[in-house]
Amino acid sequence: MENCIFCRIVEKQIPSKIVYEDENVLAFHDIDSKAPVHILIIPKEHIPSLNDVNQQNSQVIAHIFSVIVQIAENLGVKDSGYRVVTNCGSDAGQSVNHLHFHVLGGRSLTWPPG
Ligand code: 5GP
Ligand code: ZN
Repeated sequence: MENCIFCRIVEKQIPSKIVYEDENVLAFHDIDSKAPVHILIIPKEHIPSLNDVNQQNSQVIAHIFSVIVQIAENLGVKDSGYRVVTNCGSDAGQSVNHLHFHVLGGRSLTWPPG
């Protein structure tokens, strides 16, 4: 997926501020942060969106959620609270077609989102 920004971040062809990495997952600061804590967590495998999650690849999603808890603790928002969001498709405003989970925290977050 040579034209995918997040695949290029995984390959280190585009720099990012990495907060966690293992064999299957990468987490890094969003370039345009919407909150004091705004991390993106992605599977290294190119999965276009939540619509492409299935029985064959869903193990990495469970792993991502365990990593999210660890990152929330490391960045000091585990107890104060945080939000996990994945935008899927155009009505949700998905702008990068590589599955990613936003972790937002460090301030009071409004609900519902716009
Ligand atoms: P989406 O709108 O698809 O839910 O989220 C995509 C997110 O990726 C946006 O919050 C955007 O700021 C972030 N983003 C886009 N390009 C880059 C990049 O090159 N580096 C980083 N760190 N974040 C990016
Ligand atoms: Zn990709």
